[in-house]
Amino acid sequence: MQSIYQFLLVMCVFLFQGCATQPISSGSADLRFNDFKASLIVEYWEYFPGLAVAAGYYKHDDVLSVPNEINRRKLDKFLTRSSRRLSEFSNRSLSATNQTDYLVLQNHIKKLRWNLDTLKPFQWRADGYNVAREFNLILNTDYKPLNDRLRAVSTRMKNIADYYAAARVNLTDPTLEHTLLAIEQNKGGLGIWTNLLPDKVRQSTLPESEKQQILQASSITAEVIESHINWLEHRRSTLERKGARSFRLGKELFNQKFNLEIVSQFTAEEIYQKALATREEIHDQMTMISKSIWPHYFPNEIYPADHLVGVKRMITEISQEHVDREQFVESIRSQIPELERFIVSNDLLELDQTRPLVVRETPTFQRGVSGASVNSPGPYDATANTYYNVTPLDHFSPEQAESYLREYNSRMMQILNIHEAIPGHYTQLMHANKSPSLVKSLFRNGAMIEGWGLYAERMMLEEGYGDHEPELWLLYYKWLLRSVTNTILDREIHIHNLARSDAMNMMINQAFQETTEAEEKWRRATLSQVQLTSYFTGFTEIYGFREEIREALGDDFVLRDFHNQFLSYGSIPVKYIKAIMRYDLGLSKSIEL
Ligand code: ZN
Ligand code: ZN
Repeated sequence: MQSIYQFLLVMCVFLFQGCATQPISSGSADLRFNDFKASLIVEYWEYFPGLAVAAGYYKHDDVLSVPNEINRRKLDKFLTRSSRRLSEFSNRSLSATNQTDYLVLQNHIKKLRWNLDTLKPFQWRADGYNVAREFNLILNTDYKPLNDRLRAVSTRMKNIADYYAAARVNLTDPTLEHTLLAIEQNKGGLGIWTNLLPDKVRQSTLPESEKQQILQASSITAEVIESHINWLEHRRSTLERKGARSFRLGKELFNQKFNLEIVSQFTAEEIYQKALATREEIHDQMTMISKSIWPHYFPNEIYPADHLVGVKRMITEISQEHVDREQFVESIRSQIPELERFIVSNDLLELDQTRPLVVRETPTFQRGVSGASVNSPGPYDATANTYYNVTPLDHFSPEQAESYLREYNSRMMQILNIHEAIPGHYTQLMHANKSPSLVKSLFRNGAMIEGWGLYAERMMLEEGYGDHEPELWLLYYKWLLRSVTNTILDREIHIHNLARSDAMNMMINQAFQETTEAEEKWRRATLSQVQLTSYFTGFTEIYGFREEIREALGDDFVLRDFHNQFLSYGSIPVKYIKAIMRYDLGLSKSIEL
């Protein structure tokens, strides 16, 4: 079941935001609902002990749940019981916070039910079976003394053979792509048993006999995982010879997944049509900008007959303005105060100066996928810092560093900082935290979060950040085009059988991407479904809603107030925020979902 969550954290590695307390409510229905929520989550962790560890809830750190049919039936019963308990509450009688928590829980239960009964990733996603992440977290997170964590690990290891045996029973119809990923990721996790755990055992003060016991279990575990990898390799060659289930989800499942995961006012088809239209608008804008600045950069050449070829030349040209590789981390650090100043002096939204963002070099054990990411504390650890992790470029060859620095050139860095930090993800999370809700911070809506990141970029540029410089706008459009193209790719790959060569062509020629970026994106699109559509969906909804409210309020519209109020509802689907905010602003007589 862990595969459901595998790709929620891919792009922006966005861990859980802190908040442990529930708001106190006076109504008796609210008191009962608060109890219900709290007990539901406590029980939830029993079914998902691995997710609990990832969320910073360590009560079940010694439990590895075996993904077999018995446990799926238990989950089935839990879901039935939970939705019955939920339906005993009348949503309308609850406080605003609880009304939205109710909706979020209702949708989450529905999504789990759909995964269990309909999508059944446990049958076809081999990458859903990998024990590395939680063992790694337990060994590397200092939530209790090392000796105690090692004892938890020791108990937790006992189920590993059963865990992988159940995986092999479940995987009746694996795709080739997820099988390859599973091989790669399980191999990547072997170091835990060969290096990390033995090192930690040696550092500990456990009695010698206990040390020996854990070391022995560790080497047996390595063998268990190696033999699972062998099974996967064997499976892979059979799949290659005889054919496999397609990674393409198909129309029905894709649309259902979109509805449950994104929870939008729009259908997946409508968002796809909007993406197609937006791509044309962006191309027109980019062409206009490129033509206007062309003579400055290429005084002796006329603009190419193919407009998009001209755009590509301009992007390549201005991408050469970048910082030196040694200055990469420092340049990001020095940019944050500038963004804050701009927001304050233009009165765009409220910033909280009491809990500043800490820019740091990404800790080595977290390095890997992305160059920059926001890392906020878990819901059970409210006081910890929010970090902006930036990975220094010292692992790159000179050529790789140059290519990376062109991608994240001086202007693109500013857009990235807006998106990740201020007023993007970091600011949004801080606002969400003002009305703390464990439900909302655990079951966050990715489309709202990523949509806000994209909205923040657009809003800052519209308000004059960067003095309306055409070069900055050109690169902004390239960035937006990436989300738009992701949406188009996601649907065309999963529903229209888009071929790899056509997808590559689209990314390189219509979205101005480099070949390596496009190759990685193709891979990601074959391994995930719907997630790539979430960014543009959230953006479209937030931007459209702002324009709607601007029009409805006329002269009374204040951008700052809109932002503060919008963010106050937390990381819930934009569809819910719109319904509640229209009601709160007196624009509708009831909350219409
Ligand atoms: Zn250069
Ligand atoms: Zn993001």
